[in-house]
Amino acid sequence: ILPYNHLPVAEAIVSLTGVDREKEMEHRTGRHSVFNLLQKKLNIAYLPERVVKQYSGIVKQEIPETKIGLLDLLKIYPVQDTQQFEEVISILEPITPRLYSISSSPEAHSGEVHITVAKDFFTINEETKYGLCSDHLSLLPVDCEVEFYVHKNNEFRLPAEDKDVIMIGPGTGIAPFRSFIAERDAVGASGRNWLFFGEQHFASDFLYQTELQNWVETGVLTKLNVAFSRDQQQKIYVQHKMLKHGAEFFSWLESGAYVYICGKKEPMSADVELAVLQIIMEHGNRSEDQAIQYFEKLKEQGRFLKDVY
Ligand SMILES: Cc1cc2nc3c(=O)[nH]c(=O)nc-3n(C[C@H](O)[C@H](O)[C@H](O)COP(=O)(O)OP(=O)(O)OC[C@H]3O[C@@H](n4cnc5c(N)ncnc54)[C@H](O)[C@@H]3O)c2cc1C
Repeated sequence: ILPYNHLPVAEAIVSLTGVDREKEMEHRTGRHSVFNLLQKKLNIAYLPERVVKQYSGIVKQEIPETKIGLLDLLKIYPVQDTQQFEEVISILEPITPRLYSISSSPEAHSGEVHITVAKDFFTINEETKYGLCSDHLSLLPVDCEVEFYVHKNNEFRLPAEDKDVIMIGPGTGIAPFRSFIAERDAVGASGRNWLFFGEQHFASDFLYQTELQNWVETGVLTKLNVAFSRDQQQKIYVQHKMLKHGAEFFSWLESGAYVYICGKKEPMSADVELAVLQIIMEHGNRSEDQAIQYFEKLKEQGRFLKDVY
């Protein structure tokens, strides 16, 4: 998805600098009006240090190495005139597209592309701020247009229809698995499907709850294990559920199951990999070295696939 910058921020930059918003400018993103560049094309939300350094050269002021938004930078270290601001525009970088897993299936949701997005937030000086793209998406009105392209992942794909799959997707990691399960349902795949899902709270965070429960009822999902980490005193995560069902997990591996992990890289995917190793050692009666070899073989066979971020 190619997000746009906040309209009020682009407006504020125009009024602060006095630049002609309609003036056409040549930029490496193409020829656009100044306002179009500021609102839709250029990264103004969180400038990398290299851009701040170039800015410092243009305004001829010492600026400590930092990442900062353009509006704040302009307020603290103002440009002298509109010409200098146009120079600043020329050093700004294009907005980076954000990747989102597709959570729909062409077979089940013909003509549609679904995504599953968590609103990113962080705190600066005790003020809550939101990530550019997830915030942009959350504010879109119904029936508007979104700029996007499809980035193909040729690795993270379903195996043959008769193969079993184990999917581990906490949080937004559920996205590709909703698409996998919907696809397997739509084509009537004979392989078994086992999903591990995790989030903080059952009541508020059980993404696709009714769909998943329907798939359990219709038998499309052979097994569904959920872990809600904050619904009890002791934190429970997907890896704990995997370990709890370790014997069955190992028997699925032995019968050729493909294992998929999607979601947060840190710390989830490392913890899940450790759990897989532990399961192989415990239920496959293997030493640590032998378990590592077994695991490596799974990877070589393309039976252990990750899409983590
Ligand atoms: C292969 C892949 C698949 C993905 N799939 C999904 C998915 O299915 N669902 C999903 O929700 N996400 C997914 N992501 C993550 C997604 O691409 C975005 O990274 C995520 O939505 C955050 O983007 P954002 O623009 O909202 O936040 P950004 O604006 O990019 O901010 C991200 C972080 O940068 C820092 N930051 C930003 N601005 C400032 C500032 N002004 N000052 C200080 N710090 C700042 C903060 O730490 C913030 O949390 C995926 C990523 C990859 C690589």
